[in-house]
Amino acid sequence: MKLPVIMFRLLFSFILFITAMSCNRPIPEAPKAVLVIHGGAGWISRESVSDSMENAYIKTLEAALIKGRGIIKNGGSSLDAVQLAIEHLEDSPLFNAGKGSVFTYNETNEMDSAIMNGATGDAGAATGISTIKNPIQVARAVLDHSVHVFLSGQGAEEFAVEQGLKQVDPSYFFTQKNFDRLKEVKVAVNVPSQEKLGTVGAVALDVNGNLAAGTSTGGMTNKRYGRIGDVPVIGAGTYAENDVCGISATGHGEFFIRNVVAHDIAARMKYAGHSIEKASTEVIAALKEKGGAGGVIGLDSQGHVVMPFNTPGMFRGYISLDGSPVVAIYAED
Ligand code: ASP
Repeated sequence: MKLPVIMFRLLFSFILFITAMSCNRPIPEAPKAVLVIHGGAGWISRESVSDSMENAYIKTLEAALIKGRGIIKNGGSSLDAVQLAIEHLEDSPLFNAGKGSVFTYNETNEMDSAIMNGATGDAGAATGISTIKNPIQVARAVLDHSVHVFLSGQGAEEFAVEQGLKQVDPSYFFTQKNFDRLKEVKVAVNVPSQEKLGTVGAVALDVNGNLAAGTSTGGMTNKRYGRIGDVPVIGAGTYAENDVCGISATGHGEFFIRNVVAHDIAARMKYAGHSIEKASTEVIAALKEKGGAGGVIGLDSQGHVVMPFNTPGMFRGYISLDGSPVVAIYAED
């Protein structure tokens, strides 16, 4: 055989080999964690967040991760870890949940929350909360102590008080920055603002292999009085099922409800055999096509972490049983 032919064949085989190798390259495995949290998605950019605010966000997210992980380290349940991490974020004025909740058009604060136990399929949810300091505790009390799944408004608050939860004057939820933001939005467009969505959520996997997910929010600035978002709708903003995944969402709630986002991710994993990376990335990309802004956090039964979002930023982080907290804000992080 002539030398040029041999050279050509060798080159051709080499190209085939390289192509085959790159086609077979496995999708990189997601990192593993016992707790993943979010503090909302939205139009968050480096230019819009000062260094000191960025630092405050990071410190608060890290503290929530360390607190929640402490429960798991001590052999506690994923439900307790989710609740504690969310309570920490609710107590901060930085996030749109609990203390930092945004205002309705009527200048009130109406909060939604949900928590789900992946081991049993039990869930608790609450909407229209305006006087209970930590709305995630209302959801947890519904899960633990009610025959119902979802309570609203006055009925939910009376139940929470019966359960001994801390009640506060509605003025506790006043923050000047959220009030100023409402005024700006009312003047500008008079529809709910999507700019910074800021809800909080957590998903945990405990040492017994049990998954749990929870979410808490003030909703959307300038929302109509009585509007309910995706957060307390089980399967839309919050979902957990052992052996599949736990998911907590943040974003424009109406889109997450219509597309049953959290359950859609679980269903793709369960019925189509998709990995959590594939299922969650595809669902969030498809949502964007429909105009739905936001993201999710999730863990599968092996502890693989996902945090896909389709906005410029999402406050997010995860922690393993022994590692340091990993926190990020912007898409490029
Ligand atoms: N999903 C929430 C809602 O629509 C808002 C958010 O995530 O920030 O109520």
